[in-house]
Amino acid sequence: MIKEEKIYKCTHCGSENIVKNGTTVKGQQKFHCKDCHSYRTLNPILKYTQERKDEILKAYEERASLRGVHRIFGISVTSLLDWIKKRVQISRI
Ligand SMILES: [Zn+2]
Repeated sequence: MIKEEKIYKCTHCGSENIVKNGTTVKGQQKFHCKDCHSYRTLNPILKYTQERKDEILKAYEERASLRGVHRIFGISVTSLLDWIKKRVQISRI
C-alpha cells in the first residue's frame, strides 16, 4: 500500500498553520491561516492558463480591437483590460 502525505501551505504567507474552513460553492476546500488571518482556497481552479492568456494577449497586440478579442475568444473586456494592465506593470519594472 502506498500512502502519500501532502502538506499544504498558506498561499499568502507560506505558513503551515492552517485549518479547514468549509468549501466554496463549487466544492473546493477552503482554509483559514492562523498566522496571517486570511481565508483562501487550497487549489483554486484557474479559468485561463498562462499559455491561453499569452495567446489571447498576442491576438490583442496584433491590433485586434478589445471587443473583437471579446467576440473571438469569449473573454470579458474587463478581464482583458486587467491582463493588459498587469502586463504593462510587469514590463515597466
Ligand atoms: Zn497565511
